Amino acid sequence: MAFKKSVYITAKEIMNARRLEAERQQEMRHSQVIMRCPEIFTLEREIASYGAEVIRAVGMGADAGEFVRKLSVKSLEAQEKKAELLKKAGFSENYLDVPYNCPVCKDTGSHDGRYCPCYMDLIRKTARTELEEKANLSKYTFTSFNVNNYPDVTDKILGVNQREHMTNVLSFCKSYAADFTAKSPSIIMLGSTGLGKTHLSLAIAGAVLDKNHSVYYDSAHTIMTKLEEEHFGRSNGAESIREDLLRSDLLIIDDLGCEFVTQFTKAELYNIINSRILAELPTIISTNCTAKELEEKYTQRTASRILGYYYPLAFCGKDVRQIVKKAP
Ligand SMILES: [Zn+2]
Repeated sequence: MAFKKSVYITAKEIMNARRLEAERQQEMRHSQVIMRCPEIFTLEREIASYGAEVIRAVGMGADAGEFVRKLSVKSLEAQEKKAELLKKAGFSENYLDVPYNCPVCKDTGSHDGRYCPCYMDLIRKTARTELEEKANLSKYTFTSFNVNNYPDVTDKILGVNQREHMTNVLSFCKSYAADFTAKSPSIIMLGSTGLGKTHLSLAIAGAVLDKNHSVYYDSAHTIMTKLEEEHFGRSNGAESIREDLLRSDLLIIDDLGCEFVTQFTKAELYNIINSRILAELPTIISTNCTAKELEEKYTQRTASRILGYYYPLAFCGKDVRQIVKKAP
C-alpha cells in the first residue's frame, strides 16, 4: 500500500485541520461555560494545582504514597463538583470534552504506534478524490457496464459470440478486482476504440481503491508528458511521478499507442514495465494497437515483456459510445 505522497500530505492536512477545529470548538465552549459559571474556572485551577503537587511528591520518599492518595481524593471531589455545576448551568456532562472527529486517536491519525482506521479511511477517500479529478469513477463501474450494448452475434476474428464474450470479460474483471492483491497478474486490454476498455479499467480502479490499495491511473499521453516535463526540468518539482508509477499497488496506463512516441518515451515505457515486472507489481494497459503495432512502436523487447507477462484480454463488439449515444 504505497499511496502517492500528495495523498499522504493532503490526508495529514485534513487531519490537522480537524484536530485544530475540535480544539477551537472546545475553547469556545469553555469560555461560554466560564462566563455562565465562573466557579468552574476556580475548580479547574484547583484540579490543576493537585496535579502539580503530585509531580512534586515524587521526591518525598516513603510518605509520597499517602500524600498522593489524599490529593487524588481531593481532585476527584473537585471534578465531581465541576460536573455538578456544569449540569446545573444547563450543559451536558461531556460538554467540555474536545469534540474530536475520532475519539480513538484524537484526530492525530495514529494510536498505539499504528495508523488509526480513521486515517486509513481518510487516505482511501483522498486517493479516490484525486483519481476522480482525472476520471469519473462513480460513472464507470461494473454495474454501469451494460453487456446488452454488445451485439448478440459471432465475432469474425475471435470466433465467439460478442455479447457472451464481453459478459465473460466483465466477470473476469470483477473477480480480478475482488481478489486483488499487490501481487495480482498484469493485464493487457486489447481492442478498438470505444469497446469499453477504459470503462472496465476504471471500474477495477474504483474497486481496488475501495480495498485500500493505491492506484495510479492516467493516459499514456499524460504519463509520458509528465515524465518528459520532469526529466527536462519543466515540472514544478513538487512530486516525482516516476516514483508513483513504480510504487503504486496498481498502475493503469490507458490508451497506449495514442501518445507521441519518441526515443525518450520508448525507453521510459520499457523502464516502467520492466521495473514493475521485477517488483511483481501489477499493471493494466489498454491499447488499440495489435501485438505487431506494439512491437513496431515500442521495440521488440518492450512488446515481448508485455505479451510475455501480461494476461491478454480481448475486447470485441461495436463502438459502445455510438450505441449509448443512439439510445433514447
Ligand atoms: Zn482515529
